[in-house]
Amino acid sequence: MSCRRLALAAVLSSFLLAAAGAAHGDAARLLRRLPTTGPGAHYTSNRPPLAPSPLVKLPIGAIEPRGLLRNMLLTEAQGMSGHLPELSRWCRMEGNAWADPAGKGHSGWEEMPYWLKGYGDLGLVLKDPRIQAESRRWVDAIIATQDADGWFGPRGLKTSLKGKPDLWPHMIALNILQSQFEATGDERVLPFMTRYFRWELNCPAEDFMTGYWPKMRTGDNLESVYWLYNRTGEAWLLELAHKIHKHDAGWSKDVINWHNVNIAQGFREPTTYWMQSKEQPFYDGAERNYRKVMDTYGQFPGGGFVGDENSRPGYTDPRGGFETCGIVEFMHSFEMLTKITGEPVWADRCEEIAFNSLPAAMTPDQRALHYLTCPNQVQLDKENKAPGIQNQGTMFSYSPGAAYRCCQHNVAHGWPYYAEELWLATIDRGLCASLYAASEVTAKVGAAGATVKLTEETGYPFEETVRLKVSTAQPVAFPLYLRIPRWCDAASIKVNGQDVAVKAESSAYVAIDRTWADGDTVTLTLPMRIVVRTWEKNAKAVSVERGPLAYSLKIGERWSKFGTDEKWPDWEVFPTTPWNYGLVLDAKDPAASFEVVRKPGALPEQPFTAAATPIELKAKARKIPGWKQDALGMVGKLRPSPVRSEEPEEPVTLIPMGAARLRISMFPTIGAGADAQEWGVPGVVATASHCNTSDTVEAMNDGSAPQNSGDRSLPRFTWWDHKGTAEWVQYDFAKPRKLASTSVYWFDDTGKGQCRVPASWRVLVKVGTEWKLVSAPGEGGVTRDRWNKVNFEAVETTGIRLEVKLRDGVSGGILEWTAE
Ligand SMILES: [Zn+2]
Repeated sequence: MSCRRLALAAVLSSFLLAAAGAAHGDAARLLRRLPTTGPGAHYTSNRPPLAPSPLVKLPIGAIEPRGLLRNMLLTEAQGMSGHLPELSRWCRMEGNAWADPAGKGHSGWEEMPYWLKGYGDLGLVLKDPRIQAESRRWVDAIIATQDADGWFGPRGLKTSLKGKPDLWPHMIALNILQSQFEATGDERVLPFMTRYFRWELNCPAEDFMTGYWPKMRTGDNLESVYWLYNRTGEAWLLELAHKIHKHDAGWSKDVINWHNVNIAQGFREPTTYWMQSKEQPFYDGAERNYRKVMDTYGQFPGGGFVGDENSRPGYTDPRGGFETCGIVEFMHSFEMLTKITGEPVWADRCEEIAFNSLPAAMTPDQRALHYLTCPNQVQLDKENKAPGIQNQGTMFSYSPGAAYRCCQHNVAHGWPYYAEELWLATIDRGLCASLYAASEVTAKVGAAGATVKLTEETGYPFEETVRLKVSTAQPVAFPLYLRIPRWCDAASIKVNGQDVAVKAESSAYVAIDRTWADGDTVTLTLPMRIVVRTWEKNAKAVSVERGPLAYSLKIGERWSKFGTDEKWPDWEVFPTTPWNYGLVLDAKDPAASFEVVRKPGALPEQPFTAAATPIELKAKARKIPGWKQDALGMVGKLRPSPVRSEEPEEPVTLIPMGAARLRISMFPTIGAGADAQEWGVPGVVATASHCNTSDTVEAMNDGSAPQNSGDRSLPRFTWWDHKGTAEWVQYDFAKPRKLASTSVYWFDDTGKGQCRVPASWRVLVKVGTEWKLVSAPGEGGVTRDRWNKVNFEAVETTGIRLEVKLRDGVSGGILEWTAE
């Protein structure tokens, strides 16, 4: 070990776990977070007074994706995103208001920028001349639309919110120009963005961030302002950034909105603003918001959460899903947070959702996608799933068309942005392998900024080994950082075949600080153990994970074409094999219940299919006959594990979640002990004379606590659009219950809608097969904003019914109903 390295080791002693041992004296350090001080990256990074960024994006084009990721990008180029103008009228230039503000065609909103943001980067990352030429044509057209005051694109948007500007679509459009500059140094971009931000700065405070979407997504706007500030240094841009933050909807305080895409973008806003404010509560904001969402709605593997369209109280079962826009926006957010914080967990989360959720959101040829990807999803038909999920209409079938208008355009940036973040420059002039994928990176490193090339060979996430090779004209000293994912507790590293003596704990970076010579190699091994996770909040179901991949039951798929376009078909997918299995686990060592089967041969071009996946797990399971699809075709909700089953034990196969278009990723466990439960029928079944299609009878019995009768934050039951009629609601019990009272919290949206407390109601109970009025009932109240309780003579019964007379001319509903 040289004196210089000894000195360095002393300075960094708090990080130094082991620095001896390797033949060449390689100093390896373990860091929980990357260094935040140093001489500064060789690439544009945060200017003072912004907090220094530990990780810095390399220019687009510096990283050449290879292998699996390259194939995903090539498939994207051949698929829907690469040919969207054929499919989407929003992506045709003629008459498009993004290219011609006076264009008489569609006014233009988020769709074209959504697409071009991904499509443009796809062309740059793949160096694809066709896509580059087409996206350049759009960029030229957009730049040509700029007015003298700085506004650009659709004139209609300048006044579309009751005379105020809609700032949201421009946030996306700016990303397109940023990429253009990063890849080509296009001289028009910085003055163009400067003029637009001048205009934005001059917007009157009361007009600023009006409308629903802009103030939810201010974090995106902030990122672009800081990007420009780092390139021009004009101080007023920080004034604008502060103004944008001030008009944010409030993500610094809490999760202030439950729309899935708003969450996927908005949650990070405080941590982005922390770069300017440097106050710890802002730094902590993204993690706090993320946890709050995931602790309730993300209690399953795959990296997403239930938000279909909004996250709703009571809807946390893994049969609920996450929008494809949410998936790619979460990835983009995690990529940003990785660079801002230098904390490895954000890259872990990015990989988790990229590998486990994004592939299955699309057909394997990426020629169609669906709106919602759910951890448990056994049939992708085109029928309505509301109110099981919030949105009406087709949400599960794969479509290339406008059925999923936002996702159809927005999905384009998922893989290209991912490819741009595989390697990052560090503040101390090193390189960081942030997201593992076969690739080649060319970058400036070391004190003098020597150019080195590193090639990365790996079949990750299907392979445990990552092999790096250095190409350099002269030996050059720089630190190389390798991320040790949170799931890996036994990583090992070799430099030129020699072990590096570092205890490589999970959720950390290992820094190898040395003088690198041409031909030097690094071999990183990340052993992938099987982990069986129990999800206490989701009926004690289990998930099975191995390394970065979660595994799902392999279900036979029958693909059924529909739609009229032979070139771009829509697809439904139906199960051809049983799926209602509970896992039979080794009680002492659940992970030992699985056998890993690796298929021989090279990694297939598209490994994310049930047939081609290179890894399968073999397990034992029993069927649970009571676990069925519901009337909507959705997989039945989980019930508490362990579950008793008399069915024979069978071998089953698990495949990576991202390869399973039909899947069970949250498994009940089979048990035989005293704690094992019958799947049986649910304790209470709610029905009604009529239920509005976007409401649900289950809302009455979901245990939520209304704030008042107009509480619209809760799932509700209504008889809408029946008005003035006689109606009923009913609970049937699996086992007889003794009842002596019942309480109703009426829904009444006076001032907003046409539901009111009813005119009158009465209580019946089931006697044999007949409904009879209860004996000696009290008065059935119809008071707003409180429980209305009726006592009656105690009775043992298998059902209770409320007969309700609605008021003339209006409808009615129930937020919560209990019987005691
Ligand atoms: Zn969407």
